[in-house]
Amino acid sequence: MNRILIAEDEARIASFVEKGLRGNGFVTSVVSDGVAAYDYAATGAFDLLILDIGLPLSDGFTVLRRLREARVDVPVIILTARDSVSDTVAGLEGGADDYIAKPFAFEELLARVRLRLRADRVPEASVLRVADLALDLRTRRVHVGDRAVDLSTREFALAEIFCRHPDQVLTREQLLSHVWGFDFDPGSNVVDVYVRYLRRKIGADRIETVRGTGYRLRAG
Ligand code: CA
Repeated sequence: MNRILIAEDEARIASFVEKGLRGNGFVTSVVSDGVAAYDYAATGAFDLLILDIGLPLSDGFTVLRRLREARVDVPVIILTARDSVSDTVAGLEGGADDYIAKPFAFEELLARVRLRLRADRVPEASVLRVADLALDLRTRRVHVGDRAVDLSTREFALAEIFCRHPDQVLTREQLLSHVWGFDFDPGSNVVDVYVRYLRRKIGADRIETVRGTGYRLRAG
């Protein structure tokens, strides 16, 4: 079981990240200021820290520097505003393992979380299989039976979330937040458009429309 500490003072983002990680089987704790972030992370009880830079009381850079000074070697993924990426890259030299610019899609964060945890030790199946559909998470190659299929980044992310939840109805909202992120307009029809693309590539009857709700990937 992987325990992840989320240090983020914007409640909307903290809850978006927390819900997504819990939905993927992680145990999470949320703190909303830099002092609590340091105190919690320094306990050594967490496998990963997701650390916002703009935190009250003590900013993310300070938290990170203090942790490294105290020889707390928890992997850290920095969250930063898109327009301050250059400051963040400087911050990486201060001991962070990775950073992600806001706004981000949940799948993007999840991929980095898995990568950091895996670098630390966690083995994960690298190929997801549902019926004759196979997604290789490492090489990003996709096969339907023996046929190789070329998917765009978004299509792959969509296929991945379906494959992680076979036979389960996924709502448009779930798909939007997982693949496109919290900044996407909920009224958008982008999910339907991409499901159509995906059907064209992996087979039309594989993804069922559940009227008024969302979509389901058939496992059989
Ligand atoms: Ca902030």
